[in-house]
Amino acid sequence: MKHVFSNDGKAALKAVMTRRPLLAFDFDGTLAPLVPNPQDAQVPQSVQRRLAGLAARVPVAVITGRAAADARARLEFAPCRVIGNHGAEGFEDLPSAAYRAAMDGLRALLRAAPADVREHGLMIEDKAYSIALHYRMARDRDAALAFVRALVKRLPAPLVVSYGKLVVNFTAPEAPHKGDALRRLVAEHACEAAVFIGDDDNDEPAFASAAPDWLTVRIGKHSPASRAMFFLDDHAQMAMLLQDMADALPP
Ligand SMILES: [Mg+2]
Repeated sequence: MKHVFSNDGKAALKAVMTRRPLLAFDFDGTLAPLVPNPQDAQVPQSVQRRLAGLAARVPVAVITGRAAADARARLEFAPCRVIGNHGAEGFEDLPSAAYRAAMDGLRALLRAAPADVREHGLMIEDKAYSIALHYRMARDRDAALAFVRALVKRLPAPLVVSYGKLVVNFTAPEAPHKGDALRRLVAEHACEAAVFIGDDDNDEPAFASAAPDWLTVRIGKHSPASRAMFFLDDHAQMAMLLQDMADALPP
């Protein structure tokens, strides 16, 4: 994987920006720096301003693990779409009754063990279409993760479990992932290509689903197994990359 500011990265960026691309971004760790409490996450002004400029010229979407309304409230521009819950929220045909029932199984387990949830410092983020269990605040993170793994074994209906940065996400088996959402948005907006930028393992389905002439960027240097084409060192380079995107757009 090469740096997106390398010569190859610059050439790929220039090529994709001339093809009426959809620009899609993960939120936490990508547009907003990661913070100890997810409720405090904020998009820096340098990033907000450039996103607004891009959104005036091409479709700009956010595809996030957050609830869509939560992410939208943190943006100071109007994206063409905010897709929440890792791809499951924002399209009209979801969720089904079976989907809701599967999620209710996890809610029941959590409700039945309030003392364990408290003891392990778990923060439950119920986003209707998916549930995230954060253990960032846990005094003993290994013990908290072991508790969550034990919980997974007791689920009454199978859920898709994905392990992120100090968070475990639960969605229903039929839930679309970020890659499904990205492909759908490209078709919906009749775009010829896409750019997708994310920072975490749950962004990998979007990297993997990209066509070879799209552009995918993973933030962070240490992801050798990533399917993204390019990387950025860290979130602080986002404003610079957005500026390069704007500069590469045909007038
Ligand atoms: Mg992220």
